[in-house]
Amino acid sequence: MQIEMSITGKTRLLGIIGNPVEHSISPQLHNTLSKELGVDLAYVPFKVEYGNLEKAINGLKAVNVIGFNVTIPYKEEMARLVDELSEEARLIGAVNTVKSADGKLYGYNTDAEGFSRSFKQETGTGFEDKNIAIVGAGGAARAIAVKIALEGARQIHIINRTFSKAYELAKLIGENPGQTIEAVESGNPRINDILAGSDIIVNTTSIGMHPDKDGYPLGNFLDFSGRQIVYDVIYNPAKTKLLMEAEKRGSKIVNGLGMLLFQGMYAYEIWTGLKIPSDLAGEIQSLFINYLKK
Ligand code: NAP
Repeated sequence: MQIEMSITGKTRLLGIIGNPVEHSISPQLHNTLSKELGVDLAYVPFKVEYGNLEKAINGLKAVNVIGFNVTIPYKEEMARLVDELSEEARLIGAVNTVKSADGKLYGYNTDAEGFSRSFKQETGTGFEDKNIAIVGAGGAARAIAVKIALEGARQIHIINRTFSKAYELAKLIGENPGQTIEAVESGNPRINDILAGSDIIVNTTSIGMHPDKDGYPLGNFLDFSGRQIVYDVIYNPAKTKLLMEAEKRGSKIVNGLGMLLFQGMYAYEIWTGLKIPSDLAGEIQSLFINYLKK
């Protein structure tokens, strides 16, 4: 027998609050990071029942956690409960990362940066001067749209089943000089031309996510060319029907696992003040690709 030393009286706590939390891979991600970086932190899941969010965050503050992640269904409510919001979290209207320091809670949204880092690392290009179509107008779309607008996309089309949500999102982002942003309702006959003329297509809807493996978010559009990069925020399955069709027709494809991992690594950097080296980020990605195949 050996004394288990991975958690001692000096270990500080991180965690994730949400409901459900059982499916989350954040504990594995953050505990792997702490082990690799030699940081004395433990990350655990906290399932919080509806109506208990304020009690839960007061408890976490009281036990002096370093910070925590926030997942469904509390990201929007958390934006109203923190003491200070980062600019991106304010624009997105949702908090997925909280840092606790000096008796205050600081709210961040790392989905946007996670998407941006993943996209650049996996495609070797960015958003400047690009024509980008975002399908969906929910939480993930807000984070992505805000980011690509800030990073200089030339044209952004937000395509959504519920037009009012696409319109609200387009309005929220506003247009920077030299940029156009347009909301489009799913089913609009112009959509095929919009998608064909896009450099980047991002699916942010849950269409195609397990168990809906035959779900396809682009209606009858199949006119991909090698010019388009197709990014699906879904990572289960690793290749959605959208990614399979796009790949068959010569497009570069990327799934959402990188976004998930990079948003987590960025949160870890916020909590610890450390910069995760790019070779470690790459190793983490390969490790989790294999882990999720099992
Ligand atoms: P959300 O806020 O509920 O938004 C869902 C979006 O999908 C809305 O635009 C909704 O359209 C659309 N949608 C859903 N079902 C549809 C259907 N049957 N037909 C047409 N449109 C449909 O959800 P979210 O938080 O943005 O999450 C969306 C997806 O992104 C999920 O699969 C989630 O797992 C994934 N995600 C991944 C990451 C990552 O790190 N990879 C991060 C965040 C989210 P309406 O507005 O018309 O309802």
